[in-house]
This record gives sequence, C-alpha cells and structure tokens, in this order.
Amino acid sequence: MAVERTLSIIKPDATRRNLTGQVNAKLEAAGLRIVAQRRIQLSQGQAEAFYAVHKERPFYGDLVAFMTSGPVVVQALEGENAVARNREVMGATNPADAAEGTIRKEFAESIEANSVHGSDSAENAAIEIAFFFSGCDIVG
Ligand code: GDP
Repeated sequence: MAVERTLSIIKPDATRRNLTGQVNAKLEAAGLRIVAQRRIQLSQGQAEAFYAVHKERPFYGDLVAFMTSGPVVVQALEGENAVARNREVMGATNPADAAEGTIRKEFAESIEANSVHGSDSAENAAIEIAFFFSGCDIVG
C-alpha cells in the first residue's frame, strides 16, 4: 500500500456543534495524519464549483446552501491508503446506514448534514486538495 493524500472537509453541522476536535481524534485514531488544515467560510461560488459533479442531482441546491451555512474545516490527510481509510472512518453517506464507530454514525444529523466530506478516489483527491491548498500549505 502506498502513502496517499486525501481531502477532508468537516461540514457546517459539525463545526456548529463544536465537534472539530472529536472528528480529528477519529481521523488520527484511524492512522490519518492532518498535514494541512484551515477553517473557512465557503462562498456560494466556491461551494457550487466544489460540488459541480453533483450539479444534475436534485439535492444540489440544498447541498450548496448547507455547505455555505457556516464555517467548514478543510484538511489534507496523509497515510497508507488514505483515500479508502478515510472513507472507512467516515462511514456511509446516510448515517442510518453507517457502521458503528464511524464519524457519521456518531455525529451526523442526516444524509445531507453528515459531518464530513472525503475524496472518493486518488484522482479526485489530487483535484480537491489543489482546490483549497497550495503545495507550501501542506507539511507532511
Ligand atoms: P459522499 O461521497 O458519501 O459524501 O456522498 P455523495 O458524493 O453521494 O454526496 C455528496 C454529499 O451530498 C453527501 O455527503 C451529502 O452531504 C449530500 N447528499 C447525498 N445524498 C443526498 C440526498 O439524497 N439528499 C440530500 N439532501 N443530500 C444528499
């Protein structure tokens, strides 16, 4: 297995409830290293661009509204098999389907307000990390 990087976002439902530290503890316990991190307020344009892949989905407008409803914490995570490992610790999109011990099982409020985003492939991870960070922001 190779050391990879992936993009994580702690979503507004989690920052609102002051769960950043608890989410980070889960990520670190899963063997992921937070190599870059910034708390930001996404603009409408940034959220639309980030989720452009979902433009045709019926929940796109709601998702953009949710992601701009409060601060998010964007992170680059590094570790062995980081993309898959992060997806595993995140849990299923719908918290009702998420496995015990996962971030979404413990913290998510709904299928939309599900506390975290994680890249779904190494290719998308590279694109998503570059969306928020430049090389010198990332310290491994
Ligand atoms: P993920 O990779 O597990 O985050 O899931 P997707 O890529 O399928 O969806 C992206 C994000 O859109 C999810 O994390 C949710 O915040 C939101 N989402 C997904 N499915 C639904 C849905 O059926 N309804 C609503 N309102 N939001 C959804």
